[in-house]
Amino acid sequence: METIKRTKIADLLKSTAYGSTVNVKGWVRTRRGSKQVSFIALNDGSTIHNVQIVVDVEKLGEEFLKPVTTGASISVIGTLVQSQGKGQSVEIQATSIEIYGTADPNLYPLQKKGHSLEFLREIAHLRPRTNTFGAVFRIRHNMAFAIHKFFHDKGFFYFHTPIITASDCEGAGQMFQVTTMNLYDLKKDENGSINYDTDFFGKQASLTVSGQLEGELAATALGQIYTFGPTFRAENSNTPRHLAEFWMIEPEVAFNDILDNMDLAEEFIKYCIQWALDHCMDDIKFLNDMFDKELIERLQGVLKEDFVRLPYTEGIKILEKAVLDGQSFEFPVFWGVDLASEHERYLVENHFKRPVILTDYPKEIKAFYMKQNEDGKTVRAMDVLFPKIGEIIGGSERESDYDKLLTRIEEMDIPMKDMWWYLDTRRFGTVPHAGFGLGFERLLLFVTGMANIRDVIPFPRTPKNAEF
Ligand code: ATP
Ligand code: MN
Repeated sequence: METIKRTKIADLLKSTAYGSTVNVKGWVRTRRGSKQVSFIALNDGSTIHNVQIVVDVEKLGEEFLKPVTTGASISVIGTLVQSQGKGQSVEIQATSIEIYGTADPNLYPLQKKGHSLEFLREIAHLRPRTNTFGAVFRIRHNMAFAIHKFFHDKGFFYFHTPIITASDCEGAGQMFQVTTMNLYDLKKDENGSINYDTDFFGKQASLTVSGQLEGELAATALGQIYTFGPTFRAENSNTPRHLAEFWMIEPEVAFNDILDNMDLAEEFIKYCIQWALDHCMDDIKFLNDMFDKELIERLQGVLKEDFVRLPYTEGIKILEKAVLDGQSFEFPVFWGVDLASEHERYLVENHFKRPVILTDYPKEIKAFYMKQNEDGKTVRAMDVLFPKIGEIIGGSERESDYDKLLTRIEEMDIPMKDMWWYLDTRRFGTVPHAGFGLGFERLLLFVTGMANIRDVIPFPRTPKNAEF
C-alpha cells in the first residue's frame, strides 16, 4: 500500500481538493450496498460526521470486504470526489483498503443504533465510539479549554491544589480516606481510636472535597487564581446530579466582594456557553435533535438574559406563596431550610424563567468561612441556580476578619487543629476576597442537554460503581 499522509475526517469534509488522492483511517460505522458497489460510513472521532467511502466490489473483492463490518478499523486510500448524495459534501472512491482490526458482528455490542443510555453505561469502555458520546466528550474537551482561556485572558493563574489532604474541616463524614495501613490488622489504642502515627502521612488523610482553602492562600498572594481539578465526595446521594468523583473549577479573587463575585460567575458561565455555541455546534445540533429539542434555544436564552439576583429570604417568600397557591413540593419550605433541587428549579423554571443567583443564606446551612452579614443571621453566600440543574455554582465572599472567623469555627465545632495555616491568611495581611466553585459536570449537563451526570464524564464513579 502506498503511503500518503492521513487526513482527519473533520478536515477532509471541508476540503474542495476534488480529484486528489487522500488517506483516511477510522472505524466503520456501517457498510451497505449491492453486489457491485459498497458504501462504508467511516468515523475517526474528529467530528460527529462520517465520510462515505465508495467501493467497487469487484475491484477489491467480495471476500476481502466481508470482514469490513461495523466497528472494524480500516485505512482507506482513494480519490476525493464531490458527493452526489445529499447531506455530505465529499466522498472517497476507494482504490485500496487496509484492515487493521475486525469486530466480530456476533460479539461487538455496538451494532444497531438506538441503544439506551443505561445500556451504554454498562459498556462505558466502548461508548465513546457512539455518536452521542463522541459528541459529549468533544464538548467536554472544548469546555475545559474555554475555562482555561477565560481565566488566562483575564490574568488569572491556574493554581494546583492538593488532591490528598489532611484537613477535614469541610467535608467530615463525606471524605474518602487515604491510607496504606493494613485494614485486616488495624491497630487501635486503649480508647478504641485508630493510631495513625504509623500510617503513610502519620495522620488521617483523605481525598479533597474542594481546593478552596488552599486556593485562598494563593489568591491572597497572586491576586486572582483558579483551580480546576478532580474532587471527591463520599456522599451517598444517588441522584442524576451527583458523582463521587467530579471536576470542579474554583476561582478565588483578592479584593472582590460578593457583587464582584456574582459578576464574575455570570460572565464566566455565559462565556463557556457562548464558546460551546461557537465551537461545538455540530455536536450540539446532534444532541438537540436526538435528546432535547429545546437545547439550543435554552443555551441561547441564557445568554440573552441578566441573571436574577435575589436574597434567600425573598426566595423563600416566593416558594411559600407558591405552596399556598397550590404548588406541591416533596420537601417542606421554610426560612432556614437548605433548598432542594425542586425548589431551586421552581424559582428558575416556573417563577423567573431565567437563571437566579440566590444570596445571603442563613449561616446555619452554609460553611464556616463565609462572610457574616450585619443581621447576625445570614452570610454572604451566593448559589447560581440553572434551569434543569438547580445549583450549578456555589460561592461566597469570605470572612476576612480573624476574630469573627475564629468565633464561627468554635461555634460550629470545626476541627481546626490542622488548619493553623488557613488562619494565617487572616493573621497576616488579610484582605476581602471572594470565590466560587463550578461543578464541571453540572455545566456539561446544561451544555449537552444530557439528563444524567453519569453521561457527561467518561467513567462515572457513584455509590457501588467504579467499573472501568
Ligand atoms: P449540592 O447541594 O447540589 O449537593 P453542594 O452545595 O454540596 O451541592 P458545593 O460544596 O457548593 O456543592 O460545591 C460547588 C459545586 O460543585 C456545586 O455548585 C456543584 O456544581 C458541584 N458539585 C457539588 N457536589 C457535586 C457532586 N457530588 N457531583 C457533581 N458536582 C457536584
Ligand atoms: Mn453549594
